[in-house]
Amino acid sequence: MSRLVRSARDVAHWDDTADVVVVGLGAAGASVALEAAADGADVLVLERAAAGGGTSAMSGGVLYLGGGTALQTACGFEDSAEEMAKYLRASVGDAPDLAKIDLYCEHSVAHYDWLVAQGVPFKPVFYYGVSGEPPTDDGLVWSGSERAQPFCDLARPAPRGHVPAMEHQAGPMLMRSLIAAVERSPVRVAGDHRVVALVRESDDTIVGVIASHFGQERAIRARRGVVLTTGGFIMNDAMLAAHVPAALRCKFRVGAEGDDGSGIKLGIAAGAATRHLDKASISLPATQPWGLKRGVLVDARGQRFVNEDAYYGRLGEYALFHAGGRAWLIVDDAIFEKPEYPRRVAAVGETPTEVARELGLPPGALEATLALYNEHAARGVDPVFAKAAEYVTPLARAPFGAFDCTVDASIYAAFTLGGLHTDVDGRVLDPEGDTIPGLFAAGRATSGLSVGGYSSGLSLGDGTFFGRRAGRAATGNASSRSS
Ligand SMILES: Cc1cc2nc3c(=O)[nH]c(=O)nc-3n(C[C@H](O)[C@H](O)[C@H](O)COP(=O)(O)OP(=O)(O)OC[C@H]3O[C@@H](n4cnc5c(N)ncnc54)[C@H](O)[C@@H]3O)c2cc1C
Repeated sequence: MSRLVRSARDVAHWDDTADVVVVGLGAAGASVALEAAADGADVLVLERAAAGGGTSAMSGGVLYLGGGTALQTACGFEDSAEEMAKYLRASVGDAPDLAKIDLYCEHSVAHYDWLVAQGVPFKPVFYYGVSGEPPTDDGLVWSGSERAQPFCDLARPAPRGHVPAMEHQAGPMLMRSLIAAVERSPVRVAGDHRVVALVRESDDTIVGVIASHFGQERAIRARRGVVLTTGGFIMNDAMLAAHVPAALRCKFRVGAEGDDGSGIKLGIAAGAATRHLDKASISLPATQPWGLKRGVLVDARGQRFVNEDAYYGRLGEYALFHAGGRAWLIVDDAIFEKPEYPRRVAAVGETPTEVARELGLPPGALEATLALYNEHAARGVDPVFAKAAEYVTPLARAPFGAFDCTVDASIYAAFTLGGLHTDVDGRVLDPEGDTIPGLFAAGRATSGLSVGGYSSGLSLGDGTFFGRRAGRAATGNASSRSS
């Protein structure tokens, strides 16, 4: 047996017992704990850091919600669960879990209300002009590629980025609110408890965990279930090398130190299947402010590879996985503006040829790309990538410049999307699709809604939503309420 799974026979005595043991106190863990406690369970959260928060507290705090939430309505936007599901089904990558998408969209309005009821504040003001968290404390933003091709033809666009009221970066506010709700509840939280093994009965049921507490091992029994909410594995180089090596090249691998894949490994050791471990969200914020969407993004062959008005999560994914991390945003004097993020100017020239030469692009390639682009842009169209007309304008006024969007010089913010295979109630599944009794998971320890094609807010969105469902399932009340 793996050292990550111990036999219950070998546990001499239990140091503590709860109905539901939650491993990790990020957004997913807090949601599990709150919902399990609301169902009357005695809940114990074990957190390896001194206090909760995890990557969730370091994030932008955006939650992807829709279908006509109170916030969308207050800001004057119409939406429906059907349109939201159409967008997500089309955008979140190859072979997503359609059952999760549909359930999430169906209950998104109620999930927003639940977050508000926990004390997460949202200001009913729409902020236009950023793809993700706004510089103000406004509550609603565009946070995906809804208005870009091909999605705008497939689903009616609506802004769905719900941002807790905090300027610039709302993750701290989200987690402050959720942890305060946990503190008001009967949930017990034990910091400095790093779970190092699961405990299994002879009938294969997971019945507890072993936690390391200042070097001492403590055995903690779970009467009804163990829920893994330990985050992803962006901090684990060996796992990245094995599953998504391109992410190792990203300079901005932001995550709490707990994002080392420990929960995923515990689940695998207990027999779990995984899904989409090779998928990561890669954000390349090259087009903020949005006027820079009028530039053209080219690869090392001087070719365009994506419509520049797509959400920066899509730009990053294309730039890293399809263009090998070698990309430049070409601008002319007419559209030049100072980018929001510090980015190196890789080349400047009086002609596209001078810029291309400085970048080392194949002779004539950039010139041909710009000639074709400008020919159509003169009529306000982009027949190659169908960029929206408002961002299509000829790039013809010298000097020309190239912002450095290579993975070596630019911000590529990365986190992993794959994880344990779970059903819609957070039950961890084995390779046959059977549940592993007593074992549940949520958040980035699992494969959730997005398996690529990330829109901002999907990770915190699915972590909190399916976390709540896992909390109920772990208490044995999976079907007691619908959302
Ligand atoms: C810069 C940046 C900005 C982002 N902004 C957004 C955004 O706006 N919206 C969005 O949806 N997503 C965003 N993300 C992604 C998002 O923050 C994470 O995917 C999400 O927070 C994961 O939540 P979680 O609850 O699964 O894990 P976490 O929040 O990481 O929580 C996991 C917890 O488990 C603990 N833990 C780990 N292992 C153990 C163990 N063995 N024993 C006990 N405890 C353990 C950790 O210490 C941690 O507290 C962003 C990511 C980055 C990098």
